[in-house]
Amino acid sequence: MPENNVTPAISGVLETLESALKRGDVAAAVELFQSDCYWRDLVAFTWNIKTLEGREPIAEMLSAQLGAIKPSNFKLAEPEPATDANRVTQGWITFETEVARGSGFIRLKDGRIWTLLTTMAELKGYEEPKGAKRPMGAEHGARQNRTSWKENREAELDALGTSTQPYCLIVGGGQGGIGLGARLRQLGVPTIIVDKNERPGDAWRKRYKTLCLHDPVWYDHMPYLPFPDNWPVFTPKDKIGDWLEMYTKVMELNYWGGTTCKSAVYDEAKGVWTVEVERGDRTIVLHPKQLVLATGMSGKPNLPKFKGMDVFKGEQHHSSQHPGPDNYRGKKVVVIGANNSSHDICAALWEAGVDVTMVQRSSTHIVKSDSLMEFALGDLYSERAVAAGMTTAKADLTFASIPYAILHEFQIRCSTRSASATPSFTPGWKKAASCSISATTIPDYS
Ligand SMILES: Cc1cc2nc3c(=O)[nH]c(=O)nc-3n(C[C@H](O)[C@H](O)[C@H](O)COP(=O)(O)OP(=O)(O)OC[C@H]3O[C@@H](n4cnc5c(N)ncnc54)[C@H](O)[C@@H]3O)c2cc1C
Repeated sequence: MPENNVTPAISGVLETLESALKRGDVAAAVELFQSDCYWRDLVAFTWNIKTLEGREPIAEMLSAQLGAIKPSNFKLAEPEPATDANRVTQGWITFETEVARGSGFIRLKDGRIWTLLTTMAELKGYEEPKGAKRPMGAEHGARQNRTSWKENREAELDALGTSTQPYCLIVGGGQGGIGLGARLRQLGVPTIIVDKNERPGDAWRKRYKTLCLHDPVWYDHMPYLPFPDNWPVFTPKDKIGDWLEMYTKVMELNYWGGTTCKSAVYDEAKGVWTVEVERGDRTIVLHPKQLVLATGMSGKPNLPKFKGMDVFKGEQHHSSQHPGPDNYRGKKVVVIGANNSSHDICAALWEAGVDVTMVQRSSTHIVKSDSLMEFALGDLYSERAVAAGMTTAKADLTFASIPYAILHEFQIRCSTRSASATPSFTPGWKKAASCSISATTIPDYS
């Protein structure tokens, strides 16, 4: 590991932390944290996703969990150097628990822990068969009644959900459900993904026709199969739909399209779910041990009631049903709301010569895409970040390492830099509408 003068500071804290945790000395462990401190744990210590704010909650968690978790082997991760900026010393770490290997991120202020992220990376004894451990694919030699990969795959698809039950059922096959499905597949966990749409990617295909992802390509990679180097920065919606469909196929996911989950009941005594799904015109009852709801946060239209809606003679629809501008040429359109979808939809209508008005209730946070890319995402999700050795995993964990309670401290710096780089942008918007360039969504990781 490259040595620098901050490496010993972090290594020293990690050694003292480990020795306190091994002795079960919670008071000594907590003494290593600042009074204003945060510990974000993703599964490793709490088997849950938890953010502990302050020494007292950290002490409570350690008192409850240390005996079972048995943490050890805290180290600075190789070959990552520790760094020092803005009075914060920080670095990537690795550690172990009784059952797992983990990684994380630590920030020190004045020699004490300000933020600590601990995440479980893999369970011991259940390492993924990849890299040197990848499957052979071919079985060399001669064997009677040999079955091919295709035959095995078809037999699996036929059996799962009929003669055999999935261990895990994922409801919702957007990128969340598909990404988890791919992970479970690598771990050999029998899983079915159901989605009410016919094809993977349909949730994107069905949106308005001008939609492109608002986040750049470096932010959007799926596990195992990153986008190729020639992939566009902002992916058009039908292209991302096709990618998800291709991904589902090549990752060998058991994906039931056109299947709606109707009900789910858990039997505590047996530890099994009874889940009713409608697949085409058939009702199928599944009995998984684990049920995951990956139904997304943007799928359910929120259609408020407005006075006069019932007598309005024109067409009304939610943005999720908006087909695009073509049918509205020469007409007048009002769009209620002033966030991303609204701006996309209004711009496309205006381009098509529609007389369009956007209605805005309260102030909107607006930042130029270029500024967002430069000041908020640039150090983590950009070609510049990749050239500097950033990976998607590290970028995602950096995001995860910042508790919401202090996110604004990172955002304010970023927002200020963004506003000063585009001085004419803010006043222009303020004049046009009721906008605030506030520090709400753009982090700065420097
Ligand atoms: C216009 C728009 C633009 C966006 N742009 C971005 C962006 O650029 N970057 C970004 O990160 N995020 C963006 N988002 C947010 C985006 O929705 C999520 O990032 C992403 O789709 C979340 O994936 P998901 O798998 O959690 O949910 P979804 O993709 O919403 O998938 C949920 C799936 O669950 C299925 N489902 C729901 N109920 C049932 C049921 N009862 N039975 C069976 N299936 C069911 C749905 O059919 C759907 O396919 C955007 C959202 C919208 C609406």
